[in-house]
Amino acid sequence: MNPFLFERADDAPAAVAALAGAPNGAFLGGGTNLIDLMKLGVATPDVLVDVSHLPYDRIELLPNGGIRIGAAVRNSDLAANLTIRARYPVLAQALLAGASGQLRNLATAGGSLLQRTRCVYFQDISKPCNKRELGTGCPARAGYHRNLAILGASQACIATHPSDMAVAMIALDAVVRVHGASGERTIPLAGFYRLPGDEPQRDTVLEHGDLITAIDLPPLAFATRSRYRKLRDRASYAFALVSVAAAIDVAGGEVRDVRIAFGGVAHTPWRATRAEAALRGASATEGEFRRAADAELASAQPLRDNAFKVPLLRNVLTRTLLDLTVDHRPAVDHQPAEEEQR
Ligand SMILES: Cc1cc2nc3c(=O)[nH]c(=O)nc-3n(C[C@H](O)[C@H](O)[C@H](O)COP(=O)(O)OP(=O)(O)OC[C@H]3O[C@@H](n4cnc5c(N)ncnc54)[C@H](O)[C@@H]3O)c2cc1C
Ligand code: SF4
Repeated sequence: MNPFLFERADDAPAAVAALAGAPNGAFLGGGTNLIDLMKLGVATPDVLVDVSHLPYDRIELLPNGGIRIGAAVRNSDLAANLTIRARYPVLAQALLAGASGQLRNLATAGGSLLQRTRCVYFQDISKPCNKRELGTGCPARAGYHRNLAILGASQACIATHPSDMAVAMIALDAVVRVHGASGERTIPLAGFYRLPGDEPQRDTVLEHGDLITAIDLPPLAFATRSRYRKLRDRASYAFALVSVAAAIDVAGGEVRDVRIAFGGVAHTPWRATRAEAALRGASATEGEFRRAADAELASAQPLRDNAFKVPLLRNVLTRTLLDLTVDHRPAVDHQPAEEEQR
């Protein structure tokens, strides 16, 4: 590991000022991703500003009925919060599907939004990688890409975003609160992440030195009926091959409103707006759920070894929506799903 200066900030302006003078510096949350990347030589900050002790460790109700999650809130505390569990179960489930108990005790909400891709070439400094060093190439496209993107990728990069938490949050229309050099601003999570394009080294629209202070969840009454489902190679301690975050509002057998996001399939947590549009006003039936999945997946561009993600994601979305609507579907649709019958 390279030598670095360690500082601990007492408030947001001090943290932002500390990085303003350190173009190669970085904030340190729980350190569960950044320290690993430093040990691998992938990240080489010369200044680390510890922001995990800033006063952003609270989960507060907002006057509009939403919830503010401080950036320093630990993943374990967020998953265990009774309001989150009751009003946004999809978020608690997503957090508990990630990492391990020990890691969740350290990882923060702010750091979890900004964890970096798990593409094996990105993490190996002996290999070329456009995301690590622009212009060196993308060996994943012809090489190992089983766990990489099928949506929104570019010639330059086919990496996937690894956070489970962010998938649930993007489905819930979360808004990121940022303190930067010119003061405070908010960024909807839907516009926070970037597709790789020809600048894959940039994961988000943040500028150097922008400090995440909180994440706001707007009120969403029907999020009480929400779920996170994650498919992975082993039952725990593994990143998603595909995942689905969904919340749905059904009345009289018809979908009144719905929120859907996918994980493990793109450079960003993927908000499935085409699937949502296809479902609003449709019958809450398996056929409509499959049609909605197909509408979203029509733009998928799978590679040699990850084409399995397309039918897998279609089935996971359909199964998740069936589970969420089991009491609200027309009686004729209460038959076991086709795959279960086979
Ligand atoms: C073995 C292993 C398995 C894992 N499995 C999963 C999994 O299945 N699913 C999953 O979602 N995650 C998983 N994780 C990832 C883990 O959850 C992340 O490492 C963690 O969420 C990062 O949070 P952190 O606070 O430790 O971030 P850090 O490592 O401290 O920081 C990550 C990045 O965020 C920046 N940063 C931190 N705080 C702020 C802030 N307030 N403002 C601006 N920038 C900030 C840092 O500079 C750094 O760039 C796994 C990790 C490991 C090691
Ligand atoms: S997919 Fe992206 S992160 Fe992986 S090797 Fe290619 S450029 Fe690097």
